[in-house]
Amino acid sequence: MKHLERDVVVIGAGPSGLTAAYELVKAGKSVAVLEARDRVGGRTWTDTMDGATIEIGGQWISPDQTGLYSLIEELGIETFERYKQGKSVYRTEAGEAIIYEGEDFPVGEATVAEMNKLIKIMNELAAGMNPDKPWDHPQAEELDKISFHHFLRENSSDEVACNNIGLFIAGGMLTKPAHTFSALQAVLMASSAGSFDNLVDEDFILDRRMKTSMQGVSIAVAGRLPEDTLFLENPVLKLEWSEDGVVAHGADVTVKAKKVVLAVPPNLYNRISYFPPLPRWQHVTHQHQSMGLVIKVHAVYDTPFWREEGLSGTCFGPNHLVQEIYDNTFDGESTGTLVGFISDLEADKIWAMDTDAERKEAILKAMAEFLGEKTLDPKVFYLSDFGSEEWTRGAYATSYDLGGLYRFGPSQNENVGPIYFSSSDLAGEGYQHVDGAVRMGRRNAARILAELDGTAYDESYDGVATLTAPSDSQVTV
Ligand SMILES: Cc1cc2nc3c(=O)[nH]c(=O)nc-3n(C[C@H](O)[C@H](O)[C@H](O)COP(=O)(O)OP(=O)(O)OC[C@H]3O[C@@H](n4cnc5c(N)ncnc54)[C@H](O)[C@@H]3O)c2cc1C
Repeated sequence: MKHLERDVVVIGAGPSGLTAAYELVKAGKSVAVLEARDRVGGRTWTDTMDGATIEIGGQWISPDQTGLYSLIEELGIETFERYKQGKSVYRTEAGEAIIYEGEDFPVGEATVAEMNKLIKIMNELAAGMNPDKPWDHPQAEELDKISFHHFLRENSSDEVACNNIGLFIAGGMLTKPAHTFSALQAVLMASSAGSFDNLVDEDFILDRRMKTSMQGVSIAVAGRLPEDTLFLENPVLKLEWSEDGVVAHGADVTVKAKKVVLAVPPNLYNRISYFPPLPRWQHVTHQHQSMGLVIKVHAVYDTPFWREEGLSGTCFGPNHLVQEIYDNTFDGESTGTLVGFISDLEADKIWAMDTDAERKEAILKAMAEFLGEKTLDPKVFYLSDFGSEEWTRGAYATSYDLGGLYRFGPSQNENVGPIYFSSSDLAGEGYQHVDGAVRMGRRNAARILAELDGTAYDESYDGVATLTAPSDSQVTV
């Protein structure tokens, strides 16, 4: 067992923990990062299969995600645009695949009008919200009492319009059925992306990708930490704390520190035993934050055959087994990759099947209903299964159950003595995204630096500007 003494110990080497560690190191503090897995990146994870680059976890960046943009600029990481040229495909609930152009789904004028009405309502609610404090919204209490499913139907009697709008937040983002989370939680999702318009615009929200892969961002940050800072395969299961500091117990490393950044997803806080126990309010709060469930399907073909047919690869099918598909070919690859998403109740159906062969057949058949017979025969077929990952337990992220955001949210970012909570799932802007993880990492680093150095913390700091420029020695990866 190695015993270390540091200014700060960080638990979790995902984007949030690593960003916090990097900022603290740049500011001259000594840091140790303890990570449960044998790799960095957390919910961002990349592999190569039969020559094709597969982003198993998070991958896209949108123009408003300036926290992540400023980090990759500092790291010298470039981005590339997702393939967007050509027409899209919409599958009606009756099973008809319609090829269309433009922003509106091909659903008939009355339904388009109802969808636009719902979008306008969501935009107005989101504009009145500070995503850092959704509980302060003038209608927060009432919006947190009703499910998003019910809210949509209170505002429109057009079932197709409700399902289409529901898709963008339920299956598309929180990856939970719309009856399990509140309208307030849905407005937060929109507000965290700038507006509901941004969220429903796939060309905005799924705009670009990292040339290094998204996990490459964490790998690059880890490469800038001094030796003897990052300790993989060290799950922290015990944390002793007092007002004076903490002792974090990993598998073969113990770290005594003045402060700890707890950078694991909120659903995993209770995996750690705290001595003394956390205060009552923190105990209760974290029980109301749970992971969604989505399967990310990767299918790689010899060529991107859909492009030859004038299609972008973008497909939508609310209430279909595979509800979204995109061209996910990595920069410079001649093969063609499709990524599909199977969310919540549909994901349950897939995991209930007995064999991998049954799953593959059902999923490819569903994808072929959008893009034709050629879809049935990929050379690589892979399902991301973060639900089985012990150190994540779901995808993409955590959100509150009905009524939880208004009741418990206000205390989610309060430190408990030397313990600071850092996760994309606690962010305002960039909520549930790598951008939010970076912002939270920087904000927690700033709070800790202010505490350690006896200076004031600027409450308005949004985590976009880096705290300290890297020194020459830290630039070498
Ligand atoms: C399938 C999928 C697709 C996604 N798509 C996108 C996307 O396109 N764009 C986007 O911006 N975001 C996307 N996301 C979300 C994004 O990946 C997350 O928001 C981001 O990774 C969160 O970073 P984090 O550091 O807060 O947490 P995590 O990435 O979860 O990192 C937490 C780390 O803590 C470690 N850990 C857990 N418990 C312990 C313990 N007890 N001791 C030590 N270590 C521990 C974990 O192993 C992990 O490495 C996606 C996520 C998934 C799963």
